[in-house]
Amino acid sequence: MHELPARQVRINDSFWSPRLRVNATNAIFHQWKQLEATRCIDNFRIAAGEKDGFREGWFFADSDAYKWLDAASRIVALHPDPELASLMDAFISLIARAQMEDGYIFTYNQIHFPDQRWVNLQVEHELYCHGHLIEAGVSHFEATGRRDLLDLCIKAADLLVRDFLNASNDKTCGHEEIELALIRLYRVTRKQDYLELARQFVERRGRIPFLPVHLLRQFNSFNKRKAYVSELRKEYIEGHPEHASFQLPGDNYTKKPCFSRVRWYLDYLRGRYAQQHAPIRKQTAPVGHSVRFGYLETAIAMLCREKPDDALLSTLEQAWERMVTKRMYITGGLGAVPGLEGFGDDYELDPEYAYAETCASLASLFWNWEMSLLTRNARYSDLFEWQLYNATNVGMGQHGDTYLYNNPLTVHHGVTRQGWYVVPCCPSNLSRTFADLGKYIYSHDDNDIWIHQYISSEATVDGVKIRIESGFPWSGKVKIHVKPEVQKEFTIQLRKPSWNIASPKVITESGYDPRLAEYETISGNWSAEGETLEFNFDMSIQLRRAHPKVRGLAGKVTVTCGPLVYCLESVDNPDVDIFTAQLDPDSLKDEFIPDLLCGCVLIHGKTTDGKSLKFIPYFLWANRGESRMTVWVNCKQENAG
Ligand SMILES: [Zn+2]
Repeated sequence: MHELPARQVRINDSFWSPRLRVNATNAIFHQWKQLEATRCIDNFRIAAGEKDGFREGWFFADSDAYKWLDAASRIVALHPDPELASLMDAFISLIARAQMEDGYIFTYNQIHFPDQRWVNLQVEHELYCHGHLIEAGVSHFEATGRRDLLDLCIKAADLLVRDFLNASNDKTCGHEEIELALIRLYRVTRKQDYLELARQFVERRGRIPFLPVHLLRQFNSFNKRKAYVSELRKEYIEGHPEHASFQLPGDNYTKKPCFSRVRWYLDYLRGRYAQQHAPIRKQTAPVGHSVRFGYLETAIAMLCREKPDDALLSTLEQAWERMVTKRMYITGGLGAVPGLEGFGDDYELDPEYAYAETCASLASLFWNWEMSLLTRNARYSDLFEWQLYNATNVGMGQHGDTYLYNNPLTVHHGVTRQGWYVVPCCPSNLSRTFADLGKYIYSHDDNDIWIHQYISSEATVDGVKIRIESGFPWSGKVKIHVKPEVQKEFTIQLRKPSWNIASPKVITESGYDPRLAEYETISGNWSAEGETLEFNFDMSIQLRRAHPKVRGLAGKVTVTCGPLVYCLESVDNPDVDIFTAQLDPDSLKDEFIPDLLCGCVLIHGKTTDGKSLKFIPYFLWANRGESRMTVWVNCKQENAG
């Protein structure tokens, strides 16, 4: 199955177009200002020898700048903007000046440890940063046709080939990313070494001899280097007292369960944290850091698309099934344990501890898209939709300048949108994915055209003009206009969403289950005059229960409507304790409110003692200041079905 580049798809959608405009005109500029304000870009100026100063930010901060460039490239492909283009050009030439002669670029080492490289691969994200640089280069080349950034990336990738091809099994990165980046680079250059190196990086995982010893050694070395940098900073501030006033933004607040640090150590030493616990052909469960897991699975799926491998595909399918049935929140959020930033045990899905990092759902989108193309199974596009509207969309505020990093499903206090974080991995990751949204709507093969997402748009797919008019996510009405250049026979495969099966207000016992989705096949001899297909997917309000094995959620439901998960936010419900209110399930009705949060469907309900409840889409919460919120609501047992 082939994908269409996002720039061949014109989105004209009443829900998504305003959001994409905010992304292109506000979010991307806000992010650049934050990268400058937090001195992330200065780190490159210092590495290039053009600025005095002290390097600030985490050792992996370079990746945030590259991801911004990746996002900006995808944005200018669709929204040409001279101001954005000039920021990008200036940054690309700065990267060129900061990069070393042989292609190496990692400002942490270049500035603090000029004679050291590839020292603590399992901890310090050096290859992860190179991966994001390479992705930015590929996106920039695809967007502009220009080779300047791509050539810098090729220089870096050629260094990796020299240093890592046919190397020992410990030569992998603790944070996956380089693998999928090299495959993307291979897809535009067709240079086999990049694909082979990606394959080797993936296959090496889980094969490090004496892993706990190796990891402890690297962790100790990392700590020593970090302490040395802290000393350097102290000395620098003594000589430059004005620098002491500089402060990075705060960390995200997460409520942590007991023993989460201990669990992290155990997971880390066993290799599970970074998916180093077993060779990938034996990894059939989602474990460890959920962003890393998603990037690894994406890379494996990409490898399977390059060279079919049924055994490997089967491990992906098993891990996916385990994830969606036992280790995923009702919102599609991934990662239950904040200390691990990752997966807990089966059914360990506490709504308040939920880490559910925005990047983890983005990683899952990338993986599920590859799985759609690889398997032609509708379940993957279905999960894509669910995670896009809920777990992902929640990450960016309405105006594009505030973000959620972790996404709990119950908040008593402390979690709200921030303009920036000390680890700002999510904002530009969101921006690059939103900019590419058109890519995920259609795909095609010899005689088939797939429609995965119902987003109003136009594209020419394999000589057939297709225009979707969609009311999603507020209404299930969809029209699809199909017009081939000349009359021809072909098949259209339309995803029938998993949630399209309910009768009104039914209580679903199985939570959200993407495995219920399927493609409806419409074959025909399509006239060049054009034909129109019409659908009305059932967007009745549904109530979903958690699996009985999930602790603490007995007697509670989540309200959903079409692809959207709803929540109670305290700002809409000032007279009710949202955590103890008892919902009367027969009271629910929906209403489109044009002036609420830029226009959204609100769900009205009543408590069993007659007080009114207002549910808003989960992705819209925390847009009106700090508040309390819950996705799970108490619901009368007798109606539990
Ligand atoms: Zn993130």
